[in-house]
Amino acid sequence: MGKGGRRKGAGRPPHKLKAENTSVLDVGYLSRHGHLDEGNWKRLYWQQNDEVRLEALVKAFDDHITVDIGMSSHWIGLTQTTCHFGGVRRWFICTRCGKRMGMLYFRKSYFACRHCQKIAYQSQSGDSEDRLIWQYHSFLHKIANKKLLPPRSRTRIDNNFLEIACHYDAMLDQAFRKIAMADSGYTFKNSTRL
Ligand SMILES: [Zn+2]
Repeated sequence: MGKGGRRKGAGRPPHKLKAENTSVLDVGYLSRHGHLDEGNWKRLYWQQNDEVRLEALVKAFDDHITVDIGMSSHWIGLTQTTCHFGGVRRWFICTRCGKRMGMLYFRKSYFACRHCQKIAYQSQSGDSEDRLIWQYHSFLHKIANKKLLPPRSRTRIDNNFLEIACHYDAMLDQAFRKIAMADSGYTFKNSTRL
């Protein structure tokens, strides 16, 4: 028989920090609730075990947001892509690697993507996340291999792969978020409007 079902853990990067110990900023959540619309302000809380772990004030500008935590203000760039099914999808620009990301994690006094922050996910959380991560890394390898093709024949194929990779990236973020919520009673809570 094939070995398709024996890839558990394959390609998983050596991350250290578990997802449930982080505070995550979700661009989808902020976008859906209008908190990315220029001029809007929103106070957010991150909770764990019914205690507020972190509090932030999000201010939306034209092409970025600022997230004020304590005395420090964090600048996070915004960008958007057009969806296949119409409309646009908003993204954060990771403050470290510059890639577009659906979620940024607060750690060591800055926001960055899970790659830059070395965020782990719980391996015991289920095979579906394992599969997702393996597929994601598999796509990244395929994208890397496409660079060997001459530029003329590569563009459209690369774009398709990148789109799929972005899709996986978004799904993976959702998986991380579910894990964080399930494992620690983590909640991403609204506050009253300012
Ligand atoms: Zn990054």
